[in-house]
Amino acid sequence: MAHSTSAACESCRFFDDINGGQSAGDEGLCRYNPPVSQPEPKSPGLWPVVASKDWCGHFTSEMTAAE
Ligand code: SF4
Repeated sequence: MAHSTSAACESCRFFDDINGGQSAGDEGLCRYNPPVSQPEPKSPGLWPVVASKDWCGHFTSEMTAAE
């Protein structure tokens, strides 16, 4: 890709940094879609876990969308 801003989950507005001093690694939650894949009916839905350097076609810069 030839964008001036390279796509990366860590700079995507849908990336939820769950590290916050809690877990090691650079994983975060992708909040683009609703949670899915409940293991059991009464279990909370699961958010996709992505790496900070991951990216996908829904990438949206934090800077481009209104809060
Ligand atoms: S998976 Fe796609 S939509 Fe989700 S945080 Fe990464 S770039 Fe953004």
